[in-house]
Amino acid sequence: MKSIPLPPTAHQPSPYVGPSLEQVLAQRKQFLNPGLFLYYKQPIMIVEGKMQYVWDSTGKRYLDGLGGIVTVSVGHCHPHVLKAINAQNATLQHSTTIYLNPNIGAFAEKLASKLPGDLKVCYFVNSGSEANDLALLMARLYTGNYDAIALRNGYHGGSPSSMGLTAHSNWKFNVPHSFGVHHAVAPYPYRGHFGYDDPDAGRKYADDVKDLIAYATPGKLAAFIAESIQGVGGFVEFPQGYLKHAYEHVRAAGGVCIADEVQTGFGRTGRLFAMDHYADQGITPDLMTIAKSLAAGLTLSAVTGRADIMDAPAPGGLGGTYAGNPLAVAAAQAVIDIMHDEQLPARGQQLGDQLQHRLSILQHRVPQLAEVRGLGAMVAAEFRKTDGSPDAPFTKDVQARALAKGLILLTCGMDGNVLRFLFPLTIEQPVFDEALEIMEEALL
Ligand code: PMP
Repeated sequence: MKSIPLPPTAHQPSPYVGPSLEQVLAQRKQFLNPGLFLYYKQPIMIVEGKMQYVWDSTGKRYLDGLGGIVTVSVGHCHPHVLKAINAQNATLQHSTTIYLNPNIGAFAEKLASKLPGDLKVCYFVNSGSEANDLALLMARLYTGNYDAIALRNGYHGGSPSSMGLTAHSNWKFNVPHSFGVHHAVAPYPYRGHFGYDDPDAGRKYADDVKDLIAYATPGKLAAFIAESIQGVGGFVEFPQGYLKHAYEHVRAAGGVCIADEVQTGFGRTGRLFAMDHYADQGITPDLMTIAKSLAAGLTLSAVTGRADIMDAPAPGGLGGTYAGNPLAVAAAQAVIDIMHDEQLPARGQQLGDQLQHRLSILQHRVPQLAEVRGLGAMVAAEFRKTDGSPDAPFTKDVQARALAKGLILLTCGMDGNVLRFLFPLTIEQPVFDEALEIMEEALL
């Protein structure tokens, strides 16, 4: 087994006794949809997780710098989450919206107390895509309008309607899609039309939203949706003033502003929600969608919003066999308590500051490292070739070198030339120090 330069850990994984990687791979090829892709050339089979670590079937330990694709901000199998799920598991595994359930209401009340602005009502579903579908539906029902604006370089899911909102060709199929959806220019300071040196860039990018309303719609809008920071698109933070102006244009056309916090929510950006940073400037969405870290990787997502908008579906119009599953809600209740008790958003800010600082120093030694950016613990590094074009091969190499040393990282961005860092917020400082060392070695 390859030696890994990670600090020792007290957790002893159980010896893996299941089918071999080769058997699992063969089964997957034959019985699972070929549309599923495997990320690594040498597939990894993860069989156990504890806090910041995961173990593969050979017993090799990895540091999860991807945080379970941003689902385990509290860490894998956090003891409080386990306790909550196990207790719920022993009493009731399934309930549905046709019955009353004491925990769902209590969790909705707690979540509502933490939401920015006038967002006071929650409705639970099962994935980020489903939450965005429902948010768009609610906006259409509430406004009576049809057209919606999303952003280029945005990712909102793979279901028919969220795929329509998504603006990445590699996540769209060649079928009718994007009904009534128009995609505005991405306010991407590093690669867009207006750079950091333009203090008016936010307003200028937002003018495209105004133009789309004027030229591509009947002048009326149902919704505008944007990730608070574009995730899959490469951790793109909008220039100052963008959302303020965009929201003004949208509301003037009768539209509802939706913030997609599927990736940015639950402590990732140094606050519980990325929109909390905006709330300080008086900018709040009308609807907000949350998933991923909400329930530590269990399938739970939420549409949250202003009561009048959330009331738009006729009484009895909403349902869902699994909506607000008790196990997932038990996990989410534990997560929200852990976020508060362990002050994880603030810890995320510290982690992000350290990471950005280290990467900025490395910029002097790594010519490919074009930009370091992020908010809180949502940090990315964008790589370019000498001619300025995106350097995906270098990005892949860095990722492979980190993996060989036991650090899992993921690429993102339209051209695959951005590395994303999404460490569990519970990562211990000595382990994080080691992660920074590995990252540096992988970059040099
Ligand atoms: N919105 C955003 C911002 C996302 O990052 C994702 C998933 N990457 C989704 C929506 C879709 O979520 P899911 O995969 O749970 O459907």
